Amino acid sequence: MPTPRCQYRNATGRQCASLAGDRTSGLCLRHAANAPASSPDFREALTRDAYDFQRPQGVNNSLGVLYNLLAEGRISPRRASVLAYISSLLLRTLPAIDYDNEHYTYNDAEPDEQAPAESAVAAEQQPVPPGKDPLPATAAEFAAAVLDRHKPN
Ligand SMILES: [Zn+2]
Repeated sequence: MPTPRCQYRNATGRQCASLAGDRTSGLCLRHAANAPASSPDFREALTRDAYDFQRPQGVNNSLGVLYNLLAEGRISPRRASVLAYISSLLLRTLPAIDYDNEHYTYNDAEPDEQAPAESAVAAEQQPVPPGKDPLPATAAEFAAAVLDRHKPN
């Protein structure tokens, strides 16, 4: 059985002409060395007791799992800090959701023609919890905030 060709394709779709020396990845040795390391999937562990992140206890449980993964060296500090940041955003939006549920009723079956405009205005006017900065308004600001707050040492 002949050695198959490297499965790497460049941006224009042209397949690498080298032989696939690395049988696991199906890539030549050069492309196998450059391929990103497969990152383990911790989704199951991180979401097992997270209650879909709809309760503070669930976010707390997920952060506890994240802590253990980081302490055991099984997840990169960078990945962990991004996940922790997303967790903090999930946590911070829970009071806003409570406020929303308390003050507004959504009727999915028969939408009121005036409701969308009203709820859009209400969403903008939702109070920020005491001691919290407002969430970044744009994706660029969001990314800048993550990178600024979680610079690796
Ligand atoms: Zn190759």
